[in-house]
Amino acid sequence: MDLITQVQNSGVVGAGGAGFPTHVKLGAQAEYLIINAAECEPLLQTDQYLMRERAAELVGGVLLTKAQVQAEKAVIAVKGKYGDAIAAMRAVIEEQQAEIEIFELQNFYPAGDEQMTVYEVTGRSVPPGGIPLNVGCVVSNVATMINVFEASEGTAVTHKYVSVLGEVNNPRVIRIPVGAALSECLVAAGGTTIEDFAIIRGGPMMGKVVRKDELEGLYLKKTDGALIVLPADHYLVQRSELTEEQILNRARKCIQCRQCTDGCPRNQIGHDLNPHKMMRAVMMDEVDESVQEALLCCACGVCEMYSCPMGIDPRQVNIIIANKLRAKGIRYQHDGSEIIAREGREYTKIPPARLIARLQLDKWDHQHLDSFVDVQSTTVRLLMSQHIGAPSIPAVAVGDAVTVGQVVGTIPEGALGSTIHASINGTVTAVENGYVEISTQLS
Ligand code: SF4
Ligand code: SF4
Repeated sequence: MDLITQVQNSGVVGAGGAGFPTHVKLGAQAEYLIINAAECEPLLQTDQYLMRERAAELVGGVLLTKAQVQAEKAVIAVKGKYGDAIAAMRAVIEEQQAEIEIFELQNFYPAGDEQMTVYEVTGRSVPPGGIPLNVGCVVSNVATMINVFEASEGTAVTHKYVSVLGEVNNPRVIRIPVGAALSECLVAAGGTTIEDFAIIRGGPMMGKVVRKDELEGLYLKKTDGALIVLPADHYLVQRSELTEEQILNRARKCIQCRQCTDGCPRNQIGHDLNPHKMMRAVMMDEVDESVQEALLCCACGVCEMYSCPMGIDPRQVNIIIANKLRAKGIRYQHDGSEIIAREGREYTKIPPARLIARLQLDKWDHQHLDSFVDVQSTTVRLLMSQHIGAPSIPAVAVGDAVTVGQVVGTIPEGALGSTIHASINGTVTAVENGYVEISTQLS
């Protein structure tokens, strides 16, 4: 069986973000395979753990993928400060005499933005509205490469490694079945240290805030990699609660200083994205092609969480405009002009320590996730839509006995999608509303 089929059958999707089906990405040909191992969001340590502890599988996945996309170069782009992770990977690379380069990134945010990583490694700017393949690059990440290796050995994606930190008793990395309740992740980290909390699902800059009362009914997806427990009245939690009306009212305070634009990483690699202009444009009743640049925003948050002296919300404004453009079917059209990175780009890189202070996360900055636990769940709820593309079709019925790795959701005929597998042994207890539930207690 070829690698693409193995990866498709194993349900591998991009583990670090939106969940693009990896078997489709592997159909490309590229000059570079770049592994984005920057882990640049503050506090997160999952990729560092995987690079240290699963370096052999990571290197194996990189070599398979490099051959598949016929890349001339495979590069793991990792922050130079992750010394232990680099040493572990170098040891495997040397032992196997693998043709893989380690590129040491500077310690800045957002080094792990896909287009930043491509620029740092190759000096090439992805065209506005384009993808890395436009400049000869396929980009993947650490966990996905490990999953590709496991797929080549016939093992499906059934578990996730997740950093659980912040206000928990035992901050740590856990391995837990896909579909486990998010609350189970907190228990695996010794429970919360405070009663009134919220969670950031993902990194502090780009993750989604989940309030305590929303936690029940949320289940781990293949794309999850971190849960950060914060006090319910934390700055980041309060900020996430702004309504669209409040965001628009706050936009009136904009003094057009353009610090958001000067600090915007996408602007710095030469894209025509000017969030200060969007702060004016959002007052228009109707959006049209004249504000199409809002579609270039990657939602990194630099403008509103770091640059803006008024503490207002240019990222959210970009998102509001972009959503309106998408609703109208407007896509970004590049005029073909040359993309030239800004000269002062080096000086706009954000030191993580300053970002952490700005985000009021100092208290949890020095948590070292040295301990590890492998969680055994007794019930999982596997969402049929946890990837880009069409929801999977349930392939089991209530009462079926299933084992780990068995297919429980298939890709609709001819669609972009991903296969879903049982992540525990047990009995199917529900098939409804876009999920399959499995419990061991009835088996
Ligand atoms: S940084 Fe803030 S105040 Fe300055 S232009 Fe941007 S949104 Fe307006
Ligand atoms: S969130 Fe702000 S800084 Fe980041 S890409 Fe969008 S406009 Fe630029």
